Amino acid sequence: GLWTPGAARALARLESAFRVPKQKLHEIVKHFAKEMDRGLAAPNQTLKMIPSFVVNLPKGSETGTYLALDLGGSNFRVCEVTLEGAGSSGAVSNVRMRQRKYVVSDDLKTGRGTDLFDFFADCVREFLVENGIHATDPAHNELVLGFTFSFPCSQTAINKGALMHWTKGFTASGVEGQDPVQLLQDAFHRKQLRVRVASLVNDTVGTLVAHAYQDPSTHLGIILGTGTNAAYVERIDRIPKWDGPIPASGKMIVNTEWGAFDQEGVVLPLTSYDSVLDRQSAHPHLQTYEKMVSGLYLGEVMRLVLADLASTGELFRGVSSTVLTTPYSIDTALMSRIERDHSAELADVRVVLEDLISIPKTSAEDRRIVKRVAELIGTRSARLAAAGVAAIVSKINRLDDCTVAIDGSLFEHYPHYANRMRDALREIVGIAADNILLVQARDGSGQGAALIAALADA
Ligand code: ADP
Repeated sequence: GLWTPGAARALARLESAFRVPKQKLHEIVKHFAKEMDRGLAAPNQTLKMIPSFVVNLPKGSETGTYLALDLGGSNFRVCEVTLEGAGSSGAVSNVRMRQRKYVVSDDLKTGRGTDLFDFFADCVREFLVENGIHATDPAHNELVLGFTFSFPCSQTAINKGALMHWTKGFTASGVEGQDPVQLLQDAFHRKQLRVRVASLVNDTVGTLVAHAYQDPSTHLGIILGTGTNAAYVERIDRIPKWDGPIPASGKMIVNTEWGAFDQEGVVLPLTSYDSVLDRQSAHPHLQTYEKMVSGLYLGEVMRLVLADLASTGELFRGVSSTVLTTPYSIDTALMSRIERDHSAELADVRVVLEDLISIPKTSAEDRRIVKRVAELIGTRSARLAAAGVAAIVSKINRLDDCTVAIDGSLFEHYPHYANRMRDALREIVGIAADNILLVQARDGSGQGAALIAALADA
């Protein structure tokens, strides 16, 4: 497009700050590989590379009915998952699912841990009653449940672990350092529910396993939502820090906790805006990669850029707004909306800026600049995520054939996200990028937890 000289200068400056050129992608992939190896060799590295104790992918023939609990962020879901195995055609493995969402109130998140786990048990009871499932009658078999608990846990068994530390606004007392499985099992006992917790699962691991049930070439599970993380199938002999029994499969799913990548600031191309975001965040110097990639943060990066351009007079004729100066007031979903506006006058961008962000008046050029800023931040996120994918796929030698199951609203709803990842993958691995299938995996974590419970129970 045609820009006035001031706009052209501002955009040139932002483009050079936010662009991740091919050479940089290569550097990032290389550093990722090194950091993964360090995390696999020893505990307490930047990339935690946590063995999940899941040593088998499903065969697709598993059957049975299982419960799953999924605690990720503000929502808590109870699911009943019925595995139907491969259909009569033998081709597709079916899963039937009934689920209900419950909201975890801030009081529960920040109160006593026992109250939080009692709430989980109450939700399960309510769900079972609503669906006519018996769980207190000794004449019936015990129900088996998979627990998706998406907080960093060091695991010591498929159904045993310890919460390292809370994240995502949770502070419930008496849970850190404890085993979430035991806490849940105790709550079931208090409520006289005959439910046995058979697995403790990270959402990335659940997403991977659930997708592998239908597509055996699935080797990565990725979350691109509030936060970002990845799990993948590793060879056990490539995990030097593993001192447990060698599984017959020779494999182990590893939860990378990749959001922490490059906390040291070696390779990621941080802008001044990223530094401000980091400094003002709840956990400075932590989750550096996540802060450049995930949904919780992209809107905030955008807000910092727009506030800066308003203060220099390069946007909105120098006029800002209270919304624009309030941290975390721009949700990443608004960037999606801005990028989706292809009208000549950017009419919807105007609605976003003038009605939702309360900028008194915007010019057509203001709106074009804002859209371009969203593109830069959204594209950077997708390219950095692609670098992580390329690093893992290369590491496990699957450049010839690999399905990557991806869950989360950012991947699902942000326009062009998958295409931008694909473009970056081509720059990194060339033609082999065509063998890497990025697929949307919806609600896989609950199904995955149920499948893992089934595998553990077999
Ligand atoms: P979670 O990761 O907590 O399980 P989600 O996958 O729904 O949940 O991710 C929520 C994140 O996705 C939020 O940070 C939100 O800003 C972002 N998000 C929600 N809707 C959209 C959208 N339409 N476009 C881009 N990001 C979105």
